[in-house]
Amino acid sequence: MQNQNIKIKNKINYQRKLDDLIKELNGKVKSVLLHSCCAPCSSYCVEYLSKYFKITVLFYNPNIYPREEYFRRVEEQKEFIKKMPNIHGLDFIEGDYDTHVFYEKAASRANEHEGEEACQECYKFRLEYAAKLGKSLGYDYFTTTLSISPHKNSQDLNRIGEEVANQIGISHLPSDFKKKNGFKRSVELSENLGLYRQDYCGCVYSKKERDIRFDKIQKSIEENKDSKILITGCSDDCRHRQVHIIKPKSECGISIPSLNVIQK
Ligand code: SF4
Repeated sequence: MQNQNIKIKNKINYQRKLDDLIKELNGKVKSVLLHSCCAPCSSYCVEYLSKYFKITVLFYNPNIYPREEYFRRVEEQKEFIKKMPNIHGLDFIEGDYDTHVFYEKAASRANEHEGEEACQECYKFRLEYAAKLGKSLGYDYFTTTLSISPHKNSQDLNRIGEEVANQIGISHLPSDFKKKNGFKRSVELSENLGLYRQDYCGCVYSKKERDIRFDKIQKSIEENKDSKILITGCSDDCRHRQVHIIKPKSECGISIPSLNVIQK
């Protein structure tokens, strides 16, 4: 319990750090190379940052499997940039689709779950790419949209971002875009702009996990044809989505309906 308290106390509020940095800039517009994992996640980040920064969105995601999915996501990113209003400028760069880098760096992902060590390697090599490119092109800052995801730990992401920044010699823009209802806003923006929202993180392993979840749901719906089904979650592709199977009452009518919860 004591250790848990220490952990909670030591958590850094990266949204507050970003707010403080913006205050210090005092209206001076700096440039930021924003690594983006996908159009929906970038929507809120661009909306928020574009009030203060000149932004270039960098789509560098060789983790994405299969190739068709990669091209679908990159095209969606380009479309989003065309649609999104901005104040100080909004450009786009597509990085390399060098898939071997993902398989070298995150080789252990096959034996891990999302959020474990291989995912940190997956964040790191993409942040390194952004930092090196940002430095060579003379950007003031680099950062990533990844912290908007409820599945990604902003403490890890910012720690890795700062380490990479120190190694390469460029400033890292702190972020925790899920704060201030950022994730909710990204869902709204994606709906308003008609963006394609994928339902798995990106790599072949996350796709397999998604397929297993889908199969489970399908099976359970078929097995419970006579029951009421309640689906919860912020959107159709939310990975927190749950399917609740409400079993009919027993014949005597006094039993409480049982609730089976299956995570999608
Ligand atoms: S689950 Fe996402 S972050 Fe983790 S390795 Fe796969 S693509 Fe990368």
